[in-house]
Amino acid sequence: MKIGVIAIQGNVEEHVIALEQTLAERGEEGEVLKIKHRGIIESCDAIVIPGGESTTIGRLMEREGIFLEIKEAARARKPILGTCAGMVLLAKEGDAEVAKTGQPLLGLMDVKVKRNAFGRQRESFEVPLQMSFLNEPFHAVFIRAPAIIHAADSVEVLATLKGHIVAAKQENIMGLSFHPELTEDRRIHHYFLDTAL
Ligand code: GLN
Repeated sequence: MKIGVIAIQGNVEEHVIALEQTLAERGEEGEVLKIKHRGIIESCDAIVIPGGESTTIGRLMEREGIFLEIKEAARARKPILGTCAGMVLLAKEGDAEVAKTGQPLLGLMDVKVKRNAFGRQRESFEVPLQMSFLNEPFHAVFIRAPAIIHAADSVEVLATLKGHIVAAKQENIMGLSFHPELTEDRRIHHYFLDTAL
């Protein structure tokens, strides 16, 4: 299996390592590719859009022609995971802060996102988070995290925190407000790869 990590900016290396560990834990042959240019996504079975600065990642992805390729991958039902800024980019709609920047969105999830949803005073925090598909809570690291403030009925909510949706899935597309790549727990990466088989 080939997994592509969009490697334009942000938490790229951490996702690559997490995915390599996950493949190894599964005893699965695989390769994790860093995607900086167009022409690679088509060969990937699953795609991860990391956290970072969504305005920068979005603009560069669009300029490199990666935006269109991700939309095609989504249409081909390949699993796509967006974490933090990556989740913002997956959304159909953003709040006023997102609109203000004029940042391009992929529009692959029927959700409205809010940037920095947990306020400046709590730029970064960690919580044990109950997720719908896990028995034990997941230690979730939030860094200037966005949240989903509205979701269509077709969106499956995987976790909520303080009245916001912080993890959700719509068919082959999954968005997380937090950073599963920053802890050693690989359960979410396993869940993501399960959907790729
Ligand atoms: N607030 C950032 C953004 O929307 C996301 C922060 C992150 O990815 N850690 O671009």
